[in-house]
Amino acid sequence: MTQQQSRPVVVVTREVPGRVEVPGAEVRLGPAGQLSRAALLEMVRGASVIISMFHDRVDAELLDAAGPGLRGVVNFAVGYDNIDVAECRRRGIAVANTPDAVTEGTANMAWALILAVARRVVEADAYVRSGRFAAEGPLPITGFLGMHLTGQKLLIVGAGRIGKATALRGLAFGMQVLYVSRTRKVDYEIAPLAARRVDLDEGLAEADVVSVHTPLSPATRHLIDARRLGLLKPTAIVVNTARGPVIDEAALVEALRSRRIWGAGLDVFEDEPRIHPGLKDLDNVVMTPHIGSAERYWREVMTQMVSENSRAILAGVRPPNAVEG
Ligand code: NAP
Repeated sequence: MTQQQSRPVVVVTREVPGRVEVPGAEVRLGPAGQLSRAALLEMVRGASVIISMFHDRVDAELLDAAGPGLRGVVNFAVGYDNIDVAECRRRGIAVANTPDAVTEGTANMAWALILAVARRVVEADAYVRSGRFAAEGPLPITGFLGMHLTGQKLLIVGAGRIGKATALRGLAFGMQVLYVSRTRKVDYEIAPLAARRVDLDEGLAEADVVSVHTPLSPATRHLIDARRLGLLKPTAIVVNTARGPVIDEAALVEALRSRRIWGAGLDVFEDEPRIHPGLKDLDNVVMTPHIGSAERYWREVMTQMVSENSRAILAGVRPPNAVEG
């Protein structure tokens, strides 16, 4: 075996910003575009570490394709619902992710969506571009009326890191924070958030803005279903920057179409990259293509984190961002 062949191989399934630095390893970089499943299975062959993206399904088939030399999977994301963690554990393959580096960017995106929906930014932008503003002159005082946020209630569903960063931004808008999680979060209850823990149904009935931040798991799939959407006020705004299947998308489309709620902001979709056909005809939804964490600086930090986790795995030590599953 040549020296070249004996080097561990780190497969990065898609182009990432910055440099993946794993001294002593051969780093195989994927393309900018998404690989087909067949190409992905081919690319991981012989990998010691796979740096995967949130849309790569890391299951027994992919682990088999990589072969017996695979020692770790490092997700270029905090969410790891794409990885069969139990199967990795069974095979002694370490799993790691990139918490914290995604927190600020995703909270900023949640707020970009909250404000865009509350103040009808996308509709108003389309109006200006259409030439109607220039043609028709100043709007009536009743034109493009939006929702106010001061003194309103912001419900965080999934009170973790991103939920907290989103809640903290809510304080700057004078909002009161409510939160839902399975365990009490005292850090949410102390100043400055002084948030109140509520159960989900109670919170949905009270909320003016609902921001979803749970991981996707069997327990959170369709956590917000038709019945729960029915609890919302007609003036409520729902924003999802977590994972699409946490909300029943067909039921949400119906709630938006019938104006049961004011509006929604979606960065994630139930069957990405496909979206429910009803969504694009609605003017009370603002959509972005799963770009929650896409701030250049933090994406480069993520590249450093996946490098560090890969180095640890190859050195045979516990990666700093090990996922317990
Ligand atoms: P985190 O710190 O682990 O927070 C998630 C919170 O959800 C936990 O505090 C957990 O608290 C709560 N939770 C879990 N299951 C729940 C349930 N059944 N009901 C209510 N609450 C539940 O994670 P994070 O860093 O904030 O990230 C959250 C998610 O955001 C990720 O998993 C990922 O899917 C998504 N994300 C999306 C983007 C994007 O680009 N759009 C970017 C980054 C992350 P308890 O265990 O106490 O319930």
